[in-house]
Amino acid sequence: MLAVTSLSDIKTVGVVGGSLGGLFQAVALSELGLDVTVWERSAGRPDDRGAGIVLQPSVAWFLSVFCGVDPDQVSVPVTHRQFFTRDGRSHHTLMRQQMISWGAIYKPLRDRLDTVRYRDGQHVDVLTPRPDGVDVQVGAAVHPVDLAIIADGSASRHRGLVAPNREPRYAGYVAYRGVIDEGELPEELSAVFRDRFSFYDGDRTQFLCYFIPGDFGTTEPGKRRMNWVWYVRADAADLDRTTTDRNGTAHGLSLPPGLIAPQVHAELLDRARRLLPQPIRELVEHTREPFAQAILDGRVSRMRKDRILLTGDAAFVVRPHTAASAEKAAADAITLFTALQQVPSVEAALEAWERDRLAEGAALYRHGVGLGQRMGLNAPEATPITRRTD
Ligand SMILES: Cc1cc2nc3c(=O)[nH]c(=O)nc-3n(C[C@H](O)[C@H](O)[C@H](O)COP(=O)(O)OP(=O)(O)OC[C@H]3O[C@@H](n4cnc5c(N)ncnc54)[C@H](O)[C@@H]3O)c2cc1C
Repeated sequence: MLAVTSLSDIKTVGVVGGSLGGLFQAVALSELGLDVTVWERSAGRPDDRGAGIVLQPSVAWFLSVFCGVDPDQVSVPVTHRQFFTRDGRSHHTLMRQQMISWGAIYKPLRDRLDTVRYRDGQHVDVLTPRPDGVDVQVGAAVHPVDLAIIADGSASRHRGLVAPNREPRYAGYVAYRGVIDEGELPEELSAVFRDRFSFYDGDRTQFLCYFIPGDFGTTEPGKRRMNWVWYVRADAADLDRTTTDRNGTAHGLSLPPGLIAPQVHAELLDRARRLLPQPIRELVEHTREPFAQAILDGRVSRMRKDRILLTGDAAFVVRPHTAASAEKAAADAITLFTALQQVPSVEAALEAWERDRLAEGAALYRHGVGLGQRMGLNAPEATPITRRTD
C-alpha cells in the first residue's frame, strides 16, 4: 500500500462500469487506500473474446506495478512490421512491439478486487450529485460516495451529467474482426505472420493482423491466437445489415462472435476474395466466427463536474488506428492516482487531472480521425478534424 498525502475528504469511491476503464480506476484508487466499489451491470465474468490490443506503456506499467504481472509473460512480441501489396508480396521494417489480448488485461485487474468491491449484475440507474459527494442508485438501494467515476463506455448512460449532448458519432466504417486458434492455422500460413505486425492498405480499406495470447494469457507457441481487423466502409444501411444477427436481432453498433448472418458472412468471404492479397484472404477464410464493431468518434469538453469524473470510452472514443483506447483508460487512472497523491487539495488534484486528460483525449481523437482520413475510410460527413463543435 502506498502512502496517501492529500485525501482527507475522499474516503469512498463508486465506479460505474467494471470493464477495463472502471477496473483501472478501481485498482489504482484501492492502492491509495480508498474504499472503492465497482458496479457492473453484466453478471459473471465476460467471455474473453480474445480480441487483440497493442500493449502500450501505461497498460504495461499498470499490470506490472499494480497487479504484479510481468507484461512480457502475458504478451506476444513482434519484431517487424510487414506490409503486403495486392499481389501478395510483402516487405518489412524493424519495429518491436508487444501484443496482448483484452482478456489478458482484464483478468489480473479483476483478480485484484473481491466480490465486495466488485459487484456484478448490478445496473447503476441514477447518479445524484451532493455538495460533498454523489449518491449512486442501484435498484432500490442508494449508496453515498465521496467521488463517483463514470466508466460505462461509449454508449454511456451517465455521461450527460458531466458532458451533455456528447454522444459518439458513427465514423462511416466498420471493423470486421476475427480470432483463430494458432493450432487451426496451416503451419505455412502461420509462418507468414509469425513475429510480424502485418498490414494491407487497399483502396479505402485496411487490414491488419498479429498473434495474441491464447486462453488464460498463454503465450506458448502453438497455443496463441491470430487476431485480425479489417476496416471496411459501410453506410448506415450496410451497418444495420452487418450487425443484424442470424436470428434477425439487431445489435446496433456491434455484432458479437458466433452470430453473423450467413448472407453477411458469404459477402465478407466474397469481398475478401476480390480485395485482399492471398495470405491475408486465407485468414478470413479460416475464421469461423467473424464479428464486427462500428467505428465511432466521441469527445467531450469536460471530464469532471464537482465530484463526478468521466473515464475511458465514456469520455473520449478514439479510433482504433491509434491503438490507444485501453492505454488512454489506464493513463486516466494512473494520472488520477498521481494527482490525488501529489496535489495538496482534492479540488486542485481533480482540476489538474481533468486538464491533463482532456488535452490527451483531444489529441488522440484528432490523431485517430486524421488516420482514418488518410486511409480514405471516413464517411464524407464525418467530423472535420479542424472544426470544433464546442
Ligand atoms: C471487442 C473489443 C475489442 C477492442 N479492441 C481494442 C484494441 O484493439 N485496442 C484498444 O486499445 N482498445 C480496444 N478496445 C477498446 C478498449 O477495450 C476500451 O477502450 C477500454 O477497455 C476502455 O473501455 P471502457 O471500460 O471505458 O468501456 P467499455 O469496455 O465499453 O465498458 C463499459 C462497461 O460499463 C458497463 N455498464 C454500462 N452501463 C452501466 C450501468 N448503468 N451500470 C453498471 N455498468 C454499466 C458495461 O457493461 C461495460 O462492462 C476494444 C473493445 C472491445 C469491446
